[in-house]
Amino acid sequence: MNAVSEQVNGLLAVKTTIAAAELDAKRPQGSVTLVAVSKTHDADTIRPTLEAGQRVYGENRVQEAENKWPALRADYPDLELHLLGPLQSNKAREAVALFDVIESVDRPKIAQALAEEMQRQGRCPSCLVQINTGLEPQKAGIPPQDADTFITACKDLGLPITGLMCIPPADENPAPHFALLREIARRNGLEVLSMGMSGDYQTAIALGATHVRVGTAIFGSRPALASAE
Ligand SMILES: *Cc1c(COP(=O)(O)O)cnc(C)c1O
Repeated sequence: MNAVSEQVNGLLAVKTTIAAAELDAKRPQGSVTLVAVSKTHDADTIRPTLEAGQRVYGENRVQEAENKWPALRADYPDLELHLLGPLQSNKAREAVALFDVIESVDRPKIAQALAEEMQRQGRCPSCLVQINTGLEPQKAGIPPQDADTFITACKDLGLPITGLMCIPPADENPAPHFALLREIARRNGLEVLSMGMSGDYQTAIALGATHVRVGTAIFGSRPALASAE
C-alpha cells in the first residue's frame, strides 16, 4: 500500500465506523459530520482525502491554515474549514477571513474581537463556545458553571453561536463530559455539539455529537510536539 492511499483508507474506515455508531444510537444516517483534523499535515497529504469527497476539515493554528488552505480552496470551493485551537485576539482578523466555523470561542476578549471583525468584514463564520468540562487549568474553555452567562454575553455581542465544543481530560472516561456538554447545549437552545476525537468518537456519537473531530485515525500520528492541545 503506498503512502497516498493510507489516509483515504483511514477516512473510509472512520466514515464506516461513524455510520455504525449512528445506527447503534438509532440516529439518522448522515446526522454526524466528520471534521477531518489535518493540523501538521501538508497539502499533498490532505489532497487525496479531498479527491475522495471529504469536505470538512479542522486546523489548530491560524498561521498554518493560512499557508495551506487558500490553494486547496481554489480547487475545492465548497470545502468547510473549522478553527479548533485557541485564538489570539491579534489573529481575529485572519481567523474571520479564513474559517467557516470557529470552534474555540473561550473568553470575553476573543468574543469581542471576533464580533468586531465580523462587523468590519461582513463575514460571519458560525461560532462554538469551548467548555472546559474537566476544569483543567492547562486547557482552554469556559468553566461549566459560567457557560450560560458567557453564551448569553456572546449572543448579545451578535456572535452567531450555534453550539459547544469540548475536549475531555485525556485520562478520564469521556462519557460524563459529553453528557455535560449536551446538557449545557440543551438548556441554552444550541444544536451543534462538537465532541469526540480519534479515541472516543463512537462514545460521543452515542451521546449526541453532531460533529466529531478526527485526526490520527485518518492521517496517522503527528510529531509529538504538535499533537499537544
Ligand atoms: C488535534 C485535535 C483533534 C484531533 O485529535 P485526534 O486524537 O488526532 O483525532 C480534535 N480536536 C482538537 C481540538 C484537536 O486539537
